[in-house]
Amino acid sequence: MDNKIIIITAPSGAGKTSITRYLLQHYPVLAFSISATTRKKRGQEVDGQDYYFLELEDFNQKITEQAFIEWEMVYQGTFYGTLKTELDRIWGDGKVPMLDIDVKGAIHVQQQYPNQSLSIFIEPPSVDALKIRLASRGTETEESLQTRVNKAAYEISFKHHFNKIILNDELQKACLETEDVVKAFLEA
Ligand code: 5GP
Repeated sequence: MDNKIIIITAPSGAGKTSITRYLLQHYPVLAFSISATTRKKRGQEVDGQDYYFLELEDFNQKITEQAFIEWEMVYQGTFYGTLKTELDRIWGDGKVPMLDIDVKGAIHVQQQYPNQSLSIFIEPPSVDALKIRLASRGTETEESLQTRVNKAAYEISFKHHFNKIILNDELQKACLETEDVVKAFLEA
């Protein structure tokens, strides 16, 4: 098989970041694909580690240069994208990139790499549970919380586009289930 890619997608707050971290800790062959974004840095985030934080002008320049595998305006006025150079960097290290991206971006990557990607949709137990989880994270304003909740309901309707759906009603169980799928893909 050509260079492999693992895509983890889910509505915001469904637990995909926790599951991604778990996999990265257990499988050294996996490397987190650092996205570019125009969002402002939050809390402890580090540029070049969590994201490449770009000004809108620089992001647009990269779009013009066709530097992205995919990019999306994930929220009104806020752009996120996967850089080709990022995948090449990870493959160059002999590793498998793990993309933690939104549903539309995930569909685009999957379309471009149909035979070498594994796409996993992490499903929240319900939209209400998701709202509680997002609120407890304390990083959202009331407005951005509502935006994320509305978007979540829409994104869940796309779950059947992905290779595997994992229900995250209990994090530990969801991590182990995801691990099984990833392990089989890496060994194939
Ligand atoms: P956050 O602002 O909470 O870090 O991320 C918001 C959303 O953007 C999450 O659903 C995250 O998966 C998604 N995201 C992060 N990087 C990318 C990317 O490169 N492309 C796309 N399409 N979505 C991304």
